[in-house]
Amino acid sequence: MNNDYITDLKKCIDDSEMVFVGIGNELQVKLSSLNEMDSFHDKFQLLEKNEEYEWLIPYLIKYYLNDKFHQEILNAYENLYELIKDKNYFIVSLSTDDLMKKIPFRDDRIVFPCGTYEKLQCEKNCSNKLYDLDGEFWEKVSGWIEDRVDISELEQPKCPTCGGNLVFNQYGQPVYNEKGYIENWQRYTKWLQGTVNRKLCILELGVGMEFPSIIRWPMEKVCFYNQKSHFFRVHEMLYQIAGDIEDRGISIKQNALKFLQEI
Ligand SMILES: [Zn+2]
Repeated sequence: MNNDYITDLKKCIDDSEMVFVGIGNELQVKLSSLNEMDSFHDKFQLLEKNEEYEWLIPYLIKYYLNDKFHQEILNAYENLYELIKDKNYFIVSLSTDDLMKKIPFRDDRIVFPCGTYEKLQCEKNCSNKLYDLDGEFWEKVSGWIEDRVDISELEQPKCPTCGGNLVFNQYGQPVYNEKGYIENWQRYTKWLQGTVNRKLCILELGVGMEFPSIIRWPMEKVCFYNQKSHFFRVHEMLYQIAGDIEDRGISIKQNALKFLQEI
């Protein structure tokens, strides 16, 4: 049955002028899967129990986001890339795990509104600036994870302006600095305006209800107003498509990671 959906999707992409992709939770690295690795689990427990070093948790996660631990997800993204690379596409991704950056998707055709593990910001966002992670510091943190450096040698990076803590530039911080994604968000809204009256394939992959106003609802709206569009929604549980766009929608009841792996 799944093969039929894949054939339909490939045909739809071939026939479309533009492809609009949304990426959600099913494709992200989960804390639960990181915890299955003993080496991660031991360090994570230690940090959780020790308030003084809790700030290291995101750095530990960043270390274990390395490609070598997530080949399944990377293979899925490679398949997605092969599917859309020659088309006029735009991707909105809720992921913060940076794995998509390992695949040659066009930098100006992908937006990560929830942030990344690449840049740092002041937790109070005192000066609206973003900072690079200091290489020497990262080397030390990696050394601790690899049991070469003692934890007491690690100090949380500080904001050069106010002296507050620097944290990763991600949604969920006390004051999120949106500068990290806003330029590509503007490109995205402009691109979206250009889809009007064009043959459009909308592909929503594993998007739940975490941020429905960012992907789920806008995609439904675009499909509703564009009579030349088709909408593929792939999700293990939330695969349903509403009545008014049903005739141009295909609901695929499957985990998006598995779906992409089979392409
Ligand atoms: Zn500051």
